[in-house]
Amino acid sequence: MLLPDARAAIVATCRELAAAGLVVGTAGNVSVRQGDLVAVTPSGLRYGELTPELVGVHRLDGTAVEAPLAPTSELPLHLAIYAARPAAGAVVHTHSPAATALSALVDEVPTVHYYAAMFGGAVRVAPYATYGTEELARNAVRALRDRTGCLLGNHGAVTVGQDLATAHDKGVYLEWLCDVYLRAAAAGTPRLLSGAEIAAVAAKLAGYGQRPPVA
Ligand SMILES: [Zn+2]
Repeated sequence: MLLPDARAAIVATCRELAAAGLVVGTAGNVSVRQGDLVAVTPSGLRYGELTPELVGVHRLDGTAVEAPLAPTSELPLHLAIYAARPAAGAVVHTHSPAATALSALVDEVPTVHYYAAMFGGAVRVAPYATYGTEELARNAVRALRDRTGCLLGNHGAVTVGQDLATAHDKGVYLEWLCDVYLRAAAAGTPRLLSGAEIAAVAAKLAGYGQRPPVA
C-alpha cells in the first residue's frame, strides 16, 4: 500500500474532526502530500467507515494511483493549493459551524484576537463558488496568499500546514477564532487588534511551540 502512514493519519484526523464537531456526516475532506503523490479522503463516506485502504492516492494532476473509491469532490481545491504552495504538506477542509456562519457575514475574519497571527494575518473569506469547481479552488488559493487558513464564503474553512498535525491544529484554532468573534459581536461591538499588533505577535509566535523529543 502506498503512503500507509499518511493514510492512517488521515483516518485518525477525520475521526478527531468528527468527534470535535468540526465536521458532520460526510462533510469536509483531508489530504496529505508526499512528493508528487496526494492521499485524500474519498467522496461521501462516513468517517466511521473510513479505513486507510479507502483513503485514495492520486498524483498532483489528479490521476488515481491507488484509489478504490472516487475522491472527495473537492479534490481540485486540494490540488490547486499544492500546486500554488510547494511547502504545503497537508490541507484540511471542514464545514465547522462558527467558521461557516462567519463566512456568510464578512469578507475577512475580524482580528478580535491575536491568534490571527497564527494564520499570517487576518484570515480572508474567498468569494462563493459552487463546491468542487475549479473556480472555488482558484478563489481559495487567492484568499490563502501569505496565509495558512481561509474561509470559503457561505461554505466552510480551509487550513494548510507543512504536515497534517499542523493543518488540523490550525483548523481547530480557526474555528475557535470565528466562534470568539461571533460571541463578541453578539454581545456588542468588539474592539479589533491593529495590523501592527498582529504582526508583533506573529514575530513572537515564530519562536514558539515545542515538540516532544524524538526517541
Ligand atoms: Zn466543503
